Amino acid sequence: MKVENRRFGILGMARSGISVATKIKELGGIAFISEYKNETEIANSKQIKNTFQCEFGGHTIRLLNNDVLILSPGIPGNIPILKEAEKQNIEIISEIEFSFRIKHPHSKIIAITGSNGKSTTVSLIHHILQTAGYNSILAGNIGTAFSSYPIEKEDIDFVVLELSSFQLELIDSFKADVAAILNITPDHLDRYDSFEDYAETKFNIFKNQNANDLAIINMDDIISAKFTDKIISDLKYFSSNPKADIYSKENSIIFSSKEFSIQKAAIQGPHNIANMMCAILAVSPFNIENDIIQKSLKTFSPLAHRMEFVIEVDGIKFYNDSKATNTDSVRYALQSFNTPIRIIMGGAGKGEDYRSLIPHLKEQAKKVYLTGDTIDEMKKAFEGSVEIESIKEFEDVIKKAFFDSENGDIIVLSPACTSYDSFKNFEERGNTFKEIVSRLKK
Ligand code: ADP
Repeated sequence: MKVENRRFGILGMARSGISVATKIKELGGIAFISEYKNETEIANSKQIKNTFQCEFGGHTIRLLNNDVLILSPGIPGNIPILKEAEKQNIEIISEIEFSFRIKHPHSKIIAITGSNGKSTTVSLIHHILQTAGYNSILAGNIGTAFSSYPIEKEDIDFVVLELSSFQLELIDSFKADVAAILNITPDHLDRYDSFEDYAETKFNIFKNQNANDLAIINMDDIISAKFTDKIISDLKYFSSNPKADIYSKENSIIFSSKEFSIQKAAIQGPHNIANMMCAILAVSPFNIENDIIQKSLKTFSPLAHRMEFVIEVDGIKFYNDSKATNTDSVRYALQSFNTPIRIIMGGAGKGEDYRSLIPHLKEQAKKVYLTGDTIDEMKKAFEGSVEIESIKEFEDVIKKAFFDSENGDIIVLSPACTSYDSFKNFEERGNTFKEIVSRLKK
């Protein structure tokens, strides 16, 4: 894509907006950044104003004075200025699409999407590639923008991308050498008209792939398996079913004639076995030796806030699963323990039906502690099925769970909700949990 001397309008002044504007400037283009929030709400606004042409407090017709518009994730595609841009034939793309167009052809793309497990899986793939000696970068939804790396240069062997459904909405020529959908569950329903719309957006990850590319699907995920007729690339499945290309059996993952030990892996639980199978398939076209893969599974550092063991206080174990922002990840959290747990749930809701958790809570929860904005909604969903205690304050709910516990109990924060009712993000919620828990000791 030609960038030099062309005008790019960027909607959104967050991380990816700034990163793409910086790249455009580096490549000799002109970047104009438009931000919906007021100047006072933007950190570093002074510095941004000194570096780029920009506007605050709304997206105005100044955006129409550009050759291409680049949309940051989270900005709705139907706002009036974009409708006007469409009328005027101004191309609208995402930061991912832009970065794909300027990246060096040598770099291969491995792209992963899904409702849960994306960050864990991309981090593991990146770790395997690095252990094998490749120059790999990790980008996208995981926190570092694709355009923030020197992607126009030849040095990068692999770009491992975590893609959210938002980022897949504006895919045009983007093509992944390897693309995978881990699972599709009813998350983010607040943004889509229907569950089908949400699922179809995820399948954009296979767009433009050809027979030389690899598509990966979870055979155990009913929704993903339903849409596969649209895939024309080499399709491979992972599953607990031996019919799949890669499958798990007792303590092993079996792929062709190779066997990988699950026991020796750094991450555990049925969800992580799925993530590991997906990662092994994703690197399979690149002839990485078995020993390197097995070593990588062992040396991988588990990510914080995903079933993270925090501390044991007076024989009571605490786990931080703050990243569990939907019911499906909570279901896996419940399945990860051999004994019933005390589970802390609640936060800001996303329109999910919490009743789907009842059978799992009945089987795996000793008691459910509700907190945050969703107390009433969750109480209504669970009442009569499981023992519930509702305490609005985060610190108080943790203390109550601890007070109720006896030697050998397990307390897990696995909210099924986002954290935006009381925290900046899931990291802040998880860190607060860890801090409160570590004080219990004293
Ligand atoms: P994402 O990036 O898709 O949000 P993460 O790897 O950050 O995924 O994990 C988010 C939450 O989902 C955590 O609570 C984690 O324990 C759980 N999880 C991880 N992998 C899976 C999976 N394959 N299926 C269901 N839940 C998962």
